Amino acid sequence: MSTQNLSAPAQNASADSGWPPLAPGTLYLVATPIGNLEDITLRALRTLRECDVVAAEDTRRTGRLLKHFGIVKPLLSCFRFNEAQRCGEIIERLQRGEKVALTTDAGSPGISDPGERVVQAVIAAGLRVEPVPGPCALVAALTASGLPATEFHFIGFLPHKSGPRRRELERLRHTSGTLVFYESPYRIGKLLAELNGVFPACQVVLARELTKKYEEYLRGTPAELLALLRQRSLKGEFVVLLSGEGRPAVEPDMDSDFCDPRD
Ligand code: SAM
Repeated sequence: MSTQNLSAPAQNASADSGWPPLAPGTLYLVATPIGNLEDITLRALRTLRECDVVAAEDTRRTGRLLKHFGIVKPLLSCFRFNEAQRCGEIIERLQRGEKVALTTDAGSPGISDPGERVVQAVIAAGLRVEPVPGPCALVAALTASGLPATEFHFIGFLPHKSGPRRRELERLRHTSGTLVFYESPYRIGKLLAELNGVFPACQVVLARELTKKYEEYLRGTPAELLALLRQRSLKGEFVVLLSGEGRPAVEPDMDSDFCDPRD
């Protein structure tokens, strides 16, 4: 079992601020706003100010965020298609004692966003990883949805293709608790139609444009929300939540997949 000494930086508490300085050789996962810039935390700002480099999913987007808060910092791109190759460079920097912040376009790194690979590689190299928690669309939507959060399953994005999407939804028929999906605005109608096919009796909450000017929560069965979608176009970003009530909370009958030779 490997452990991180999370109390280490506290021993070097900075006399000026009273807060511990950033620890050399640490990767900081910095959550950033999902719409409302006021949601940036004081710690996120200090981390971005005090780190040596920011590894960003989109350097232009993080660059704009830094500019808004008057922060000037070298940026390194780290996105889905170069994350694996960036791991080596980030590890070398950490081994030299640098403090590296990792940001994505919005929300928490690693949640349907780059981050997981880098985190695994940094841990495997025996180096330190610390989250700087903050905005996350999943948590914001779940807490305001009114659906139970005692048991929930984060699904994130379903596959793009219809067959694998349908199979994934069928698999979820027997999962209890609230299900939470991320979906692009272009596929929201498709997802509602699919939910109507597999979970017609379940309550759905569409959490739209969280933390932004046109934030709203639309509640109903998949068919009711599809009807609404025909009346008005729904733009923006969505988290889709599906109530656990109305889904059979029993295990699928695995035997039914096998042929009985006596038949
Ligand atoms: N890492 C992010 C997080 O912590 O929430 C999620 C990134 S993922 C690439 C983007 C998806 O998150 C969007 O397609 C949408 O489903 C959801 N999302 C992000 N911001 C949102 C917002 N302001 N309102 C509703 N959904 C949002």
